[in-house]
Amino acid sequence: MRALLERFGPDVCVTVLEKSTTPGGLARFGIAPDHQSTRRIARTLEAILLDHRVAVAFNVDVGTDVRAGELNEYADAVIWATGATHPRPLGVPGAGLDGVEYAIELVRWYTGHPNGTRPHVLDATRVAVIGNGNVGLDIARILLADPTTLASTEMPTTVQAALSSSSVDEVVVLGRKEPDRAAHSASEVLALAAAEDIGIAVETCAGAAPSGRFLGRAVEAAARPGPANGKRLVLRYGFEPVEVRGHDSVTSLVVRGTCEGELVEIECESVVAAIGTDGGGQIPAGWGSVDGHVLHSEGRVLDDAGNAIPATYVTGWMKRGASGGVGTNKRCAQQTVSTLARDLAAAGPSRDSKSPSAILEELERRGVSYFGSEGWRAVDRAERAEGRASGAFRRPAAREALAIGLGAEGR
Ligand SMILES: Cc1cc2nc3c(=O)[nH]c(=O)nc-3n(C[C@H](O)[C@H](O)[C@H](O)COP(=O)(O)OP(=O)(O)OC[C@H]3O[C@@H](n4cnc5c(N)ncnc54)[C@H](O)[C@@H]3O)c2cc1C
Repeated sequence: MRALLERFGPDVCVTVLEKSTTPGGLARFGIAPDHQSTRRIARTLEAILLDHRVAVAFNVDVGTDVRAGELNEYADAVIWATGATHPRPLGVPGAGLDGVEYAIELVRWYTGHPNGTRPHVLDATRVAVIGNGNVGLDIARILLADPTTLASTEMPTTVQAALSSSSVDEVVVLGRKEPDRAAHSASEVLALAAAEDIGIAVETCAGAAPSGRFLGRAVEAAARPGPANGKRLVLRYGFEPVEVRGHDSVTSLVVRGTCEGELVEIECESVVAAIGTDGGGQIPAGWGSVDGHVLHSEGRVLDDAGNAIPATYVTGWMKRGASGGVGTNKRCAQQTVSTLARDLAAAGPSRDSKSPSAILEELERRGVSYFGSEGWRAVDRAERAEGRASGAFRRPAAREALAIGLGAEGR
């Protein structure tokens, strides 16, 4: 949005349709609550929503409340940015057992998403996390954290209370590659290493040892015994999942070493699959897609025959798939807006689309319970007040947000 406002100046008019009752997407319901400086991006996004050139409608599900193809009737161009949060299936025998959960569900819960529910993982003593990207490491860190270190974060108090009474005392994080080529970043490992009350063990299969590159060195530096009776993290490199075992619920995970093919059985009562997400069913029919994200040319959406769909653009994870953080998204959005600007300039001024506010009138006519920036301001005030009352920076009052937002606008 910022790229759009900067590029098109005072006369542009942007209408945002958002399924959730709060803005920010994964910046709010993904980035870990204890990564407070990174989460500030959500504030920046919120400020942009209050720009006088922007109209916003929360609680609008594009695809249900309004059909994908209808949107172009109301605007000169439509930019899709619905993300990629559909969990990739684990795809090994036993993946359907109770006790197997997907990372994105766990993340939704600990960030206070309205649909988040208390995960089973809290009842396990040993947890295996499959996938050692930054999301897998975030989950390990949150599960093992000293609850007092989370007290001043945006994590809901109910989540903090559940974490402090959880049974988890060991998390084993598994990744296929050796430490030098692991999916996580060095800074995530260093964030783990900063928690001195956790013992960290690094295990590699034969041949998957670090070879002295920066990432491998960070992993080696993180290893330490930790206090007796303390919580423990095992970073296991060079293993892939083969089977989840159990009767009604998980009792172990069988993994195979990627170097020599040996099978190892890890006893655990919970398995968390942190193996990535994709656009799932979010991609409209007829659009081209690759590996769960939209087929595009510099942000211009292509159909399944590779032709550009008029005035339709894509950005963020829906465009690139579930990888890259805030900085990558910024560059990605700039590319999409530049393409859009070039296309509009080439098409000339003759447009017969309805006014963007007409889409809001149409939603009203259809009886969709949406609220706009007035409602969002009321939600924001309520959240901050709740945060002040509990001595924390802010707590999401997500479940109540719809009622507050609608009430503030007299809907
Ligand atoms: C667990 C986790 C931790 C992360 N940690 C970091 C980090 O520390 N640092 C970092 O830089 N990045 C981090 N990221 C990545 C960062 O969150 C993403 O790069 C970024 O949020 C992607 O932005 P997006 O707009 O493409 O998608 P999203 O943030 O998913 O936003 C999509 C928006 O579209 C809305 N939407 C979806 N479907 C519809 C629909 N049908 N109708 C209307 N609206 C809809 C959603 O509600 C959402 O608001 C993390 C991601 C995850 C999952």
